[in-house]
Amino acid sequence: MKCAYCGKEAKGTKEHIISSGILGLFPECFMTIDGDRKKMYPSDPMVKDVCADCNNNKISYIDSYAKQLIQQYFIVKYEKDDKLDFDYDYVLIQKMCLKYAFNDMRARKLDYSFFDSDIINYLLDEHSTSPLRNVTIMAGLAVNTSPAPDFIFGNNKLRWGDNPVFLSNSIIENIDYNTGKVTIRENNPPEKFECLSVSYVFRFNSAQILLICWDKNISEEQLNQNQVVLKYQYPYSILNESGHSVLERCTSESTYHHEKLIDVTWGQGLSDEMSYMRGTFSEQAQVHLKEVEKEWQAEERRLAEEHPRK
Ligand SMILES: [Zn+2]
Repeated sequence: MKCAYCGKEAKGTKEHIISSGILGLFPECFMTIDGDRKKMYPSDPMVKDVCADCNNNKISYIDSYAKQLIQQYFIVKYEKDDKLDFDYDYVLIQKMCLKYAFNDMRARKLDYSFFDSDIINYLLDEHSTSPLRNVTIMAGLAVNTSPAPDFIFGNNKLRWGDNPVFLSNSIIENIDYNTGKVTIRENNPPEKFECLSVSYVFRFNSAQILLICWDKNISEEQLNQNQVVLKYQYPYSILNESGHSVLERCTSESTYHHEKLIDVTWGQGLSDEMSYMRGTFSEQAQVHLKEVEKEWQAEERRLAEEHPRK
């Protein structure tokens, strides 16, 4: 076997798609649910084309950072209006997302030609500390504001997928406040971004992170134009070299359970209006949802004890 990172002929070892350290933070999520293959299995998602040296030594620094980051900020849940002061290492977040996307693309036999030697060397070299200009990372808080508690959709705290759909307009077209009638927009094509190469969405419990990779030769002008649309049209913060951003909720009741659906900012507002109108945000409904959530958390603790990580 040829190692996917260093290219040397070696025996393949099992590389976790999402690092074992992160999976270990959520032992209650002991089943892997693979929607693409319509399969569910009790072991971790893996890819087996990485040599022992790369797996255990060269690229493990990325996983150490990823675990620390998720543990520090995203094990807890957030409330709908929370703002998180988020400090991060921008280069390491780029590397984390690139690595997990690369692993997933190989495991699913997708076209991973974006990952050329420059990108792979960036991942392999712990000391390369200038971020890639053609990789954009956005982040927000995933908060369940829907009337459907988390357990209805299974224990699904870690999710990821390629090609999230960036909508060009709001999911909800109109709310009639007299009758309560909600009209869903019929024609809502995805936003088109020039020079887009690879995109991924990652849900790490209460974090939602978007990886957007542009063609290597994308012009500064085109890159800026794309970033302006991303910044103003979607409820995510664009991370940057300053290493500090404020994260706010990037989900609504329409998108929380569908992480690959990226609604526009005003669409999230309209979904919130619907939640208000329906009473999901009323004090009584919130008390009820909190009680259900508490019971589910007790069940999760039981599941975590029953399924300790090996
Ligand atoms: Zn290797």
